[in-house]
Order: sequence, then C-alpha cells, then structure tokens
Amino acid sequence: MENCTVPNVAIVHAITKVQEGGNLTFLCQVTGEPMPVVRWRTNKLLSRYTVQRFWGSTLKLELQLWNMSSEDNLHNLTCEAENRAGPGEEKVTLDIEFPAKIIFLHNAEQQHHWCVPFKVDGNPEPTIRWLFNGSDLTEGLYAYTQFIPDSDDGSVKHGCLFLNKPTHLNNGLYTIIVENRLGMDQATATGKFMDNPFDPFDPEGIIPVPTNKSNEDVTENLESRVFGVSVAVGLAVLACTFLLIMVLIINKCGQQSKFGIHRSSVLGTEDDLAVSLRFMNFGASPPSSDDSGMSSFVENPQYFCGIFKDKDMCVQHIKRQDIVLKWELGEGAFGKVYLAECANLSPDSDKMLVAIKTLKDANESTRQDFQREAELLTVLQHQNIVRFYGVCTDGEPLAMVFEYMRHGDLNRFLRAHGPDAHILEEVKMPPLGQLTLPQMLHIAAQIASGMVYLASLHFVHRDLATRNCLVGDMGESLMVKIGDFGMSRDIYSTDYYRVGGRTMLPIRWMPPESIMYRKFTTESDIWSFGVVLWEIFTYGKQPWYQLSNSEAIECITQGRELERPHTCPKEVHGLMQGCWQREPQQRLVIKDIHSRLLALVKSPPIYLDILG
Ligand code: AMP
Repeated sequence: MENCTVPNVAIVHAITKVQEGGNLTFLCQVTGEPMPVVRWRTNKLLSRYTVQRFWGSTLKLELQLWNMSSEDNLHNLTCEAENRAGPGEEKVTLDIEFPAKIIFLHNAEQQHHWCVPFKVDGNPEPTIRWLFNGSDLTEGLYAYTQFIPDSDDGSVKHGCLFLNKPTHLNNGLYTIIVENRLGMDQATATGKFMDNPFDPFDPEGIIPVPTNKSNEDVTENLESRVFGVSVAVGLAVLACTFLLIMVLIINKCGQQSKFGIHRSSVLGTEDDLAVSLRFMNFGASPPSSDDSGMSSFVENPQYFCGIFKDKDMCVQHIKRQDIVLKWELGEGAFGKVYLAECANLSPDSDKMLVAIKTLKDANESTRQDFQREAELLTVLQHQNIVRFYGVCTDGEPLAMVFEYMRHGDLNRFLRAHGPDAHILEEVKMPPLGQLTLPQMLHIAAQIASGMVYLASLHFVHRDLATRNCLVGDMGESLMVKIGDFGMSRDIYSTDYYRVGGRTMLPIRWMPPESIMYRKFTTESDIWSFGVVLWEIFTYGKQPWYQLSNSEAIECITQGRELERPHTCPKEVHGLMQGCWQREPQQRLVIKDIHSRLLALVKSPPIYLDILG
C-alpha cells in the first residue's frame, strides 16, 4: 500500500511497580500512516482510571490509574493501534506490591489424600509455613504443602497442606502463616482424622502420644490405674465367659480344637479380651487350664495329655536324673537357659545335647503359664519350629527340654555374620564370614515355612522377630527354626516398649492396627515377617534403630516404611513392601511369600550393592 505504514506503538518510561493504594501513569505514543485509531485495553481492571489524548507530531494516549487495588496485580494493560496497513500494540504488566494475606483456609477434608485447603496472595511472593498445635510443623513425606496451578488467578496461590495417612496423632489445629516484607497474616483450621483408639482408663492400653520426654517419663496415675485394673479384671471375667461359650460352640460344630488354636473364628473379640487376660506371654497361647471345661488336658505323673486334630497329644515328662547340665546358654524372661545332656530321649541314641529352659520363682500363675506353654509346644510339630521334647517337673526349678540349636538365636547370629561382626565382643563362635545372599534367602524361606505351618493352625504368633528364631546346622547348611513364643523379653528388653507398667510390646515389629487397636491376626504376623526379612538383610539391625520408641510408633502409624537395606535385591524388597501394606487384607499371604522365597533360593537374583 503506497504511503502507508503500520502503526508503531511505544509505552514510554513505563514504571509498573507500585504499592497497593498508589498511582501509576502510562503514556502510549503511536505513529503510522494514515493516523491509526488508538485505545488502551484495560479489561477487568478494578482500579479507577482515566484516559487522556494528546495531539502533536505523534499521537499520545495517557492512562492514569489511581488507588491501585492489589487484585490488579499481574494484570496486563495493552495499548492497541490500527490503521489500514494493519494493527500494532504494546503491553505492560502491573506489579502492585501488597502485604501477604490469606484469602481462605478450610478445615481438613478428604479428597484423594487428606488436605487442608488454602488460598493466599501477596507481592512480593509470600513464604508459607505451618504450625501444628502451635509448634512448627516440619514438612516432609507425610505432611507437605502442594500448590494447585491456576494461571487465571494473578498472583493468588491456591494449594493444600497434604497429610499422608494421618492418624489420631495428627488431630489438632493447623495454622498457616504467610509473610512478605510488607506484612504477614495467619489463620487456623482443624484436622480431625480419626478418634483416639485408646481407652484413657485402660493403663495397659495407652501408648502415649510422642513427646520430647524420655520413655521413662511416662508416669502412671494411681487412681486411673486402680480403675483400669478393675476394668481389666471385669474384662478378664467377660473374656473367660466368652471364651467358654466360643469353645463350646466350636466343639459343638464339630471342630477339633481343644487348645483355642482355631482362633480365626473368634479373633475379633477374643483377641481384644485375651489382651486383658494376659498379653502375649505365649504368643497365641490357649486359654487358661483353670477355666474348667476349656482345657482337655489331664495331668498324670508321666504326661499332660490333650486331644488335637483327633490325636492324643501328651506332654512328655523327663526325669531330672536323666538331665546333666553343662553350661549356661542365655537368659530369658522366665529364667536361665542351659546346655545339657539328656538320656533316654530317643531310642536311637543314648544321650543327646538339649537346651533346658528353667522357670525361676514359679508361683501358681507362672506354673499354669508353664503348663500351657508346654501343651502348646507339644502340639506344634514342624521342621521349622524348634523341637520340644518335654518337661521336667520333679523338683525345682521347673524346666522345659528343647532340641539344642548350636548357633543360638538368629539375631545374634546375623550380627555375628555381618559387616560389624569384628566390633562385637560377645562373638564366641569362629566367624563364618559374612552371610551371602543365598544364605539370607535360605534363612528367610525357612522362617516362612514355619509361619505357613502356624498359619495353617490359625496360630497367631504376635512376636515374630529374629530374636525369637534359633539357628542350628543341617549338614553343610544352616537350619533356622522359630524357637520362642514370647519369652525373650529380658535380654532384648530394648526391643519392647513398656506400656502401663507391665505390658511389653514389640512395637517396632507391629503393624499400625496392632499398635493402635491391639489387633493381632495372621495378617499382623505377616507385617512382622516383613520386618524379619528387613532384619535378615540388615544383618540384625534393630528396626528404626535411629528412633526412640515413641518416634517409631509415630512413623509406623503414619505409614513410613523401613528403608530398603543395601544388600537387599528388589525382589526381596518387593516382598517386604507386600508385607507392609497398611490394609491387613492387602498384605501378601504367607504361602505366597514362602513360594516366592523358595523360587529365589533356587535362582537367587544377581545383586550389586549399588546403594553403598
Ligand atoms: P529365651 O528364653 O528363649 O529367650 O532364650 C534365651 C537365650 O538362650 C536365647 O537368646 C538363645 O541364645 C538361648 N537359647 C534358647 N533356646 C535355645 C536352644 N534351643 N538352643 C540353643 N540356644 C538356645
């Protein structure tokens, strides 16, 4: 087009930064042939403005803005011109500074995750931090701020404080604090995720909310204890009645369990009540024999007998004169353990080495526990459960006779065959060198095999850990057996958490539902099995060794997982994770774990320790 030029648009000396409430002026100069039509595009501008036109050699269009609103921050203003030759334009973006402010903060709501939603604004961009019940909340994997992108909303920031698997420990007040150099704002919302599952009147039931105090600082209120004990006694009576009814029903229905071992049918209520009766001394031990009609055992000078799966099962009695003690092997909560020689145990051999577990200071109640343990151990017969030969009850101390497992408990064995073995003074055995991957898999598969057997009896162990497994030899290879049903609480006392004075809980091996609701099931044993795998692959480290008991409780209940050990192939880590599903029903089943471990034993994965 002859004698035509497209419009040239320039916004001169544009200062775009101003504080909220201030004024700004923009001058737009336009040239072009023929003279263009010019305008300022200000759509959706909230601040007051006027436009003035000046004529001269160039066309000037001045835009004046007053009492600028913070809501116009990042708003674009465009000077547009057009003539026959075409259009032209130039833009400025407003930079209105204002103090940090909260537009909204709502109470926690469950979307995909739990979220405390918020909307904040401020220029310069504000920093955001959170308080939980008035103290700084450190963001991490389990509580973190996430922003939701929204390009249409200027400088406004929309987001969530995400809470990953919160529990009652996370109930409380969440305060958001936003701040920039012009000011700060704060607001508080409530998070209510679940009710506290613990009965405040049950001294055995309270696992204190983690505090900075040491565990020893947990004090007991005498009054509540007395009340709690009365509640526990009441529950115990209820439990006995309930158990009696259940056993009668089970027997009537044709089931053979006389030992209370078919627990799955009564697990829910029975389990909770059993806690009040006597927590965990003997894994899933049968009901008390003094509950008349519940135990089918009869005592005679030679045997305690009972019926299990249509078979007579008798606890063998071993004469004291047949036992010759050699030396002490260790000490459990119930007394010392000795190596001994025992005569007349088997028709094939004259004398055999055995481990003798003695019961110190036996009173009526511990004698009953002792008898129940013996009855239970007589029933449990499997190549990966330590073999129980019988009891010796003529004279004191009462004793149980077991097969001797030369390498002692698995935890000590793992430590003695790990990278730190040289620092362990107590290592008595000659070092066999560090355990290899095939050996670790072989150990794990054997424990799994024992657990398959226990699960087939609906037996809930409740305290599966490497300290409760024993190691012996089988020709060239290692033989590992589940060897203890809850008697190792003395030497490994730091593995247990004392609550309410008497109860010792192996919390580091327990899943969230056992910690929070005292629910022990075959599935909670699976969780513990995952922890046992972790122990094996860390050469016997204590789970969460870097944390106090209360910190460990917090981590477990919030869904944190133990880290993958350096020596652990991904296949085994996958198994661990399958055991640590938060939902008990989603955990792997022990049969599958066992067969997967057997497959790995057959063809161990090639593993390079790339992590360290
Ligand atoms: P416990 O009372 O079962 O915790 O046993 C205490 C310690 O005695 C264990 O940590 C083992 O070192 C040792 N022990 C227990 N049973 C046996 C056994 N059958 N063979 C060899 N050592 C054993």
